Amino acid sequence: MFIPDRMYDTVYDIPKEYFTENGIKYLFVDIDNTLVPYENKTPTKENLVWFGKLKELGITLLLVSNNGEERAKEYAQELGYKYKADMKKPLIKRYKAFMRENGADKDNSMAIGDQIFTDIASAKRIGMKAILVKPIKDKESAFFKFKRIMEKPFLAIYKSREKRRNKTKREGKI
Ligand SMILES: [Mg+2]
Repeated sequence: MFIPDRMYDTVYDIPKEYFTENGIKYLFVDIDNTLVPYENKTPTKENLVWFGKLKELGITLLLVSNNGEERAKEYAQELGYKYKADMKKPLIKRYKAFMRENGADKDNSMAIGDQIFTDIASAKRIGMKAILVKPIKDKESAFFKFKRIMEKPFLAIYKSREKRRNKTKREGKI
């Protein structure tokens, strides 16, 4: 439940093949520290270019934030992106409702976020693939630092799996 399927430094590093080969039509993306730091109220140019690429791939972007309505709305509204605030990740009730509203299901959806215990956990509970990216800017609070420390064992499991995956690939088993 706490192990991402893939890890990348930023959303821009995710190869488009990872979406196309998995038949992804809906991408559920966290806002804070995944797309922009907390203090950015609106999407950056880089965000917009990436959103455009997703559209070209036929992927619908759906923003999912644990932050409040005002924050999510301000980020999403300018360009009319669909969003849901107060998601309460890792809880999945609102998440599932949002998926249903948009005709998405776990097999054609993927989640991207910067936090294991909210973004990754919620996606895995629903049963969809999940990508962890590095947080753009960590809040310097003790609580956040504590969370990052708690994530470490799960990151270690991911890394050993990735090693095995790469080894198998090299040996030509896939
Ligand atoms: Mg976040």
